Amino acid sequence: MRSRDAYVELVNLVQRAHALATAGDLLGWDEQVNLPPGAAEQRAAQHAAVAEAHHGWASQPRIGELLAALEADDTLGGAERAVIANARRDYDRATKLPADFVQEKARQGSRGYHAWARAKAADDFGGYAPVLEKNLEFARREAAYLGKAEAPYDYMLDKHDPGLNAATIATLFDELKGELVPLVREVTASPVAETARAASRRLRGFPIDAQRQFLREVTTAVGFDYDCGRIDVSLHPFCSGTGADVRMTTRYQENQPLDALFSAIHETGHGLYEQGLPREHLGTARGIAAGMAVHESQSRLWENQIARSRGFWRHFEPRWRQLFGSQAATVDADELYLAVNAVEPTLIRVDADEVTYNLHIILRFELEQRLFSGELRVADLPSAWRAASRELVGLEPANDREGVLQDVHWSDGAFGYFPSYCLGNMIAAQLWHRMQEVRTDLDTDFAKGDFSWVLRWLRENIHAHGRRFGTMELIKRATGEELSPRHLIAYLRERYGELYRCAK
Ligand SMILES: [Zn+2]
Repeated sequence: MRSRDAYVELVNLVQRAHALATAGDLLGWDEQVNLPPGAAEQRAAQHAAVAEAHHGWASQPRIGELLAALEADDTLGGAERAVIANARRDYDRATKLPADFVQEKARQGSRGYHAWARAKAADDFGGYAPVLEKNLEFARREAAYLGKAEAPYDYMLDKHDPGLNAATIATLFDELKGELVPLVREVTASPVAETARAASRRLRGFPIDAQRQFLREVTTAVGFDYDCGRIDVSLHPFCSGTGADVRMTTRYQENQPLDALFSAIHETGHGLYEQGLPREHLGTARGIAAGMAVHESQSRLWENQIARSRGFWRHFEPRWRQLFGSQAATVDADELYLAVNAVEPTLIRVDADEVTYNLHIILRFELEQRLFSGELRVADLPSAWRAASRELVGLEPANDREGVLQDVHWSDGAFGYFPSYCLGNMIAAQLWHRMQEVRTDLDTDFAKGDFSWVLRWLRENIHAHGRRFGTMELIKRATGEELSPRHLIAYLRERYGELYRCAK
């Protein structure tokens, strides 16, 4: 068989498997947005049926035959080799894990979630510890089935961000930590911090209909294509779907009007990435996102570097005041800008601002590393968490509910997931730095409501490549240098140092 024919057949099979996977995603979106309360069990059965069909399709021996033939062919180009390598990765995951292990792991994930919810409500880490022990064991076994028994944590990290490993991340995070801890202390000790918090507290009673209208105008202005996507309401904001059908959600509260807006802009960043992937290659390595960290860089760039900038608010503030007359009148322009950029250390990761957020991630990464190396026992996790929280965030939780029990991720075995958030911040800052080198007056563009240059640059330098390159190579190609935390540090120092008038 000619290579060309084999390649076309492989792409066809991969895209078909992807179509089934996205049908499953759509069921998940619907479950969180529309599902009648009585339909949960029926939906679980639908999920299981689609997952089974997907697994059957993705693990068919024909894919293995085509991969073996194509891997032996050295005449193929780089883009095609990337498609083949990614198909191999998916195929190995679909075929090398024994069926009973996959089923047992799925059951454990669901049990783990409920055990975590109970333990959190009762502040009872002891009831949760056996679940964590079991989940660590499952992670190690999964890594072993895929030939990564000697480095299970690297395997978990690579699952989310192809090519990344713990040693690389540790180097980046150590450098970031050294600069960020003192910066956070400076910013939060500034008297301006209290002015910013007071301004946010005055934003009350914003009508939901007007919030919805404003948010629609903002997300349209930055480039989200509502012919190929939509935004709805869910308990926790998220973005799913891809290509011509991107589904975002947000949530509205009258007394926290900035929350719905910034959640929506964050999800819009994810959505713009998915809408910008090459449609004809959808589902193959040329048409899917590079990884979690790059995905998160897109959401954070729009949410933070862009939507918290002066230019952005210069453009949108008049419309904001027009829509929210009396509620908006409680803050002047400077106070609004401070409220948008309020910083306050908190024990809870999901409540953290963009400056302190990274410290919460470094804490989790360091604990995950120690758990996987065996240096830290599960039983000692609560006290290790308290010590790390004191050292990094500057606050010590009074109970485990505000400490080790706060996140859902570990309850279903999602280790190695947290670092992507902080890496995403680092990548966003490095992309932002590069963009500003190329175009020096972006803030003037934003003040005119023009975001097209940024979107075009991201389309060309990030979105167009899909997963063709590993995370580190993609960033190097886009910015001309290796990924480094120094752009994030410089960006945070510049924006918050200036705003909070701290010494440089
Ligand atoms: Zn995100």
